[in-house]
Amino acid sequence: MHIYPDASAVVRDLSPDEPVILNRPHAAARAGRFFAQKFPGKSLYAVKANPSPEIVQILWDSGVTHFDVASIAEVRMVRGVLPDATLCFMHPVKTKRAVAEAYHTHGVKTFSLDTIEELEKIVEATRSQDGAQAEDLNLLVRLRVSSDYSELSLASKFGIDLADAAPLLQATRQHCDALGICFHVGSQAMTPFAYVQALERVRAAIAEAAVTVDIVDVGGGFPSSYPGMEPPPLEDYFAVIHRHFENLPISYSAELWCEPGRALCAEYSSLIVLVEKRRGDELYINDGAYGALFDAAHVEWRFPVEALEDDLTEGLMEFSFYGPTCDDADFMKGPFMLPADIQAGDYIEIGMLGAYGAAMKTGFNGFGAAACVNVSNEPMASLYRGDRVDPRESDNVVSLR
Ligand SMILES: *Cc1c(COP(=O)(O)O)cnc(C)c1O
Repeated sequence: MHIYPDASAVVRDLSPDEPVILNRPHAAARAGRFFAQKFPGKSLYAVKANPSPEIVQILWDSGVTHFDVASIAEVRMVRGVLPDATLCFMHPVKTKRAVAEAYHTHGVKTFSLDTIEELEKIVEATRSQDGAQAEDLNLLVRLRVSSDYSELSLASKFGIDLADAAPLLQATRQHCDALGICFHVGSQAMTPFAYVQALERVRAAIAEAAVTVDIVDVGGGFPSSYPGMEPPPLEDYFAVIHRHFENLPISYSAELWCEPGRALCAEYSSLIVLVEKRRGDELYINDGAYGALFDAAHVEWRFPVEALEDDLTEGLMEFSFYGPTCDDADFMKGPFMLPADIQAGDYIEIGMLGAYGAAMKTGFNGFGAAACVNVSNEPMASLYRGDRVDPRESDNVVSLR
């Protein structure tokens, strides 16, 4: 595959009418190495954040050996790419057939659950042909924790309440080789304290249930860097998590796991879009709510942007975007900071779209197409380069390039 130096070179070569996804394998590899080497336990890549075979392979090559999968399609995809990877089926609600195929066909031994019914389903689906119960299961009980310190809540859908956890932990202990507790503090956790309050809840659950716990899985939520959201260094998260994990009443051989999605792939992709029309401070571009900019539309996420024209001379001003579909909701409030003289026919690069961006493009209204190329320059921001601006000095760093 041809590798371009940067987005401007792609525009010069292709003058693309449709959006172009730019992938940076070196950025994903750097994130993978960082977690593999610095997280004080095992790092499972949460595949849903970007389920492309390419990034799964890149992360494996960088030392990430475990993958958090949430559907049988993700199980099949990762197993197809990586015959030797360890897959963990961490969606607490699965069909019996999905569990059976994962276990018997793809060698998946790790499952999460948050009800007795799901436990019974897993036990039944993993029996051998002669009816014997599986003896090699790792079962993790998902605990509900607060999302108060995160930008995107995951607190209401999954997880058993602390008050009800003891009987489920005790029942699960009867059916597994290794018992774990997992949780998710919500995505883009802006402070390590998010994990402290969750681990305190884990402590209470263990004490109440009086069971031996072999795995503590702190889930995802590790942040990336966006305009107006500059998190502390990931090393701070790792240190706080490690310290509180070590103080839990668990056996000395217990394992610490995490499930980063966003943090491993946010820097992997950006997107080139074309301005098709300008109306005041609104730009009509060729990607939007049904494309890679789902979060920009639906939760008003701000992504860093850069105009790709050399001849724009005016200062930056605030713009909103409209996407290409005929739906009024295809609107991204921003603000996105671009030169005041930008106009129809100009190209923009939108950064930090590797997580929950490029992966979420749909074909709605005929606008799904996008070319995909590799580029070798740096992402617009990085948590892994050691040059991040101290958030106390700037609370709104649009570009670190
Ligand atoms: C989505 C998800 C993750 C990844 O979350 P990030 O915030 O992207 O790190 C991890 N674990 C589970 C169970 C998830 O649903």
